[in-house]
Amino acid sequence: MTTKPSIQTIAVLGAGTMGNGIAHVAARSGFRVLLCDLQQSFLDRGLATIEKNLAREVAKEKLTAEQAEEARSRIVPTLDRESLASADLAIEAATEKFEVKSALFRELDRILRPEAILASNTSSISITKLAALTKRPAQVIGMHFFNPVPMMQLVEVIRGLQTSQQTFDAVHALATAMGKTPVEVNDAAGFVSNRVLMPLINEAIFAVMEGVATPEAVDKVFQLGMAHPMGPLTLADFIGLDVCLDIMRVLEEGIGDPKYRPCPLLIRMVDAGWLGRKSGRGFYTYT
Ligand code: NAD
Repeated sequence: MTTKPSIQTIAVLGAGTMGNGIAHVAARSGFRVLLCDLQQSFLDRGLATIEKNLAREVAKEKLTAEQAEEARSRIVPTLDRESLASADLAIEAATEKFEVKSALFRELDRILRPEAILASNTSSISITKLAALTKRPAQVIGMHFFNPVPMMQLVEVIRGLQTSQQTFDAVHALATAMGKTPVEVNDAAGFVSNRVLMPLINEAIFAVMEGVATPEAVDKVFQLGMAHPMGPLTLADFIGLDVCLDIMRVLEEGIGDPKYRPCPLLIRMVDAGWLGRKSGRGFYTYT
């Protein structure tokens, strides 16, 4: 059995929406970060977002200009995955496709030291399945951050069937050191967050489809009656209706209960290219 690594260097795979947020928070918390993506332009875009978000934190006096500069200097961008060998832990935040993640996990398993931990930020792929692809299944775990990462407090820490207590403890401590609140969840489709949130959104869409209420009325019920900061349909537009549909399908297939059937209106809207905020139209229109 390997010993618990003391984590100093974190490799982050993917400099997209989640990866740049994770790199930002890790660097701000004093870790050295190796930020890796497939193309220089993706790294540049991720780094530009980090710069902008650090500057915003300085403007809000959450950080000093010196602390922001120190955080920025701890991030080493790279296109060369072999250069990740010095990492004590990798957080994979690459595209949500099993082929992409399985190839990466096999490669990281080869590149990283035997005692290093491999974590995935996946929203829906089984940690147990990813762990089984490696020679270190006990050191594979889910670290499910929320968007936008610098602002959202939660990390769902997902235990695969094979995840050791030592790995869980190290990642729980890491999430805390990153200023987040870790919550322990076992590996099952949708974990807790999406298993509960997506059926709520899906049911809200059924209510609209059946003419029970308008999208505005549904959202107002949740804002004013349940103190949600935004209603489920506004949130669905923010997440992306295609992402919501994908997750409903993961729940339907993974849990096998017909109660997770995606609403036909959701399917039609995705077919129409009405994906929410990112496409300019969803339950609301955006300019
Ligand atoms: P994104 O598309 O913004 O970024 C993904 C990045 O990964 C891209 O820049 C892509 O070039 C890069 N990539 C792909 N293959 C790679 C490889 N082999 N090596 C290095 N980089 C690679 O996606 P995102 O929204 O940041 O999502 C990333 C992960 O986080 C997904 O698993 C997603 O399910 C999960 N997630 C997303 C959200 C969200 O709100 N966006 C929330 C929680 C979890």
